[in-house]
Amino acid sequence: LFIAFEGGEGAGKSTQVRLLCEWLTARGRPARATFEPGGTPAGAAVRAIVLDRAHTGLSPRAEALLYAADRAQHAHAVLRPALGAGEVVVTDRYVDSSLAYQGAGRTIGLDDVAAISRWATLGLRPDLTVLLDLPPETGLARARGRAAADRLESESLEFHQRVRDTFRTLAAAAPGRYLVLDATRGVEELAADVRERVGALLEV
Ligand code: C5P
Repeated sequence: LFIAFEGGEGAGKSTQVRLLCEWLTARGRPARATFEPGGTPAGAAVRAIVLDRAHTGLSPRAEALLYAADRAQHAHAVLRPALGAGEVVVTDRYVDSSLAYQGAGRTIGLDDVAAISRWATLGLRPDLTVLLDLPPETGLARARGRAAADRLESESLEFHQRVRDTFRTLAAAAPGRYLVLDATRGVEELAADVRERVGALLEV
């Protein structure tokens, strides 16, 4: 089973990924928590480049290709092997992040970004995507509390609004494969909703 968590800045994805994996492991289901960008050694090098746009002057297309390269390596070295070994794989960000940030945020267009992601992953798609949805104002305020938050200030609120709208549109287009949660709610409440949905999928 392959599960992706998606959402904007400060949505609480990494916390929910951790809680879900702890719960699965406690129930005897081997679970692998992973993330993009940077979930492999090569990906960590890519992450350093893409998150340093101020210095690299990356073009939107170069950025999109780097995210796709990170994802290709992640799918090859982590996702497919773990899924093949029967683990539940839970990733913090996947293709929808590229559609939202590069496709809509940087206005490259969703179709081209979808095509390179499909090529990069050989079409590997999550069984379930959990969208932690919240207004960008709220998420950015939360994320500002973290280290290295300067980067967030370089994008406009409109950019983050396009990102949010795209995540929601993608979820609305395939409701059976998404769980959309209001991420302004409490951590434990959200985790309980995630467990209910994942538990039903796994019959644990
Ligand atoms: O999820 P995480 O905070 O590690 O992501 C780091 C940053 O990378 C995010 O703040 C987001 O702005 C950016 N990102 C992006 N395009 C992606 C994935 C992440 O711009 N496809």
